[in-house]
Amino acid sequence: MIRNEMKGYSSVVLYDGEEKDFSEIEFNFICETCGNKANVKLVDGVKISDIKDEALKTDILNRTKLNTKDIAGIIFYKTRENLNPLAKFLSCESCKERYLLIVGMGEVQPARYKIVISKIFRLDPN
Ligand SMILES: [Zn+2]
Repeated sequence: MIRNEMKGYSSVVLYDGEEKDFSEIEFNFICETCGNKANVKLVDGVKISDIKDEALKTDILNRTKLNTKDIAGIIFYKTRENLNPLAKFLSCESCKERYLLIVGMGEVQPARYKIVISKIFRLDPN
């Protein structure tokens, strides 16, 4: 489960431009516990709706304040910036501290794309 939120990351813009291919976009993550640095690719995150752990999903929704839209019984989530949220689970290679990044990505105008951090959480150890 989520232990706490890392301060200072909410709404940080990681990308704003014309490139639709996010596969090369990396986030320079610094572990808060040990200071280890890692370049993190974000495109392989999972959709919030695909998170199987219902308690964790509820906790994410409560803490991230995503917008929800119910279309014919299917729930769609959007970040405050109206982007598609992805959850990226991380484990520090050095100290094994576990983190969860919630990152919004998508098109904000025709041919203009953004990646914006919603929240970064520290998770409890397994
Ligand atoms: Zn670490």
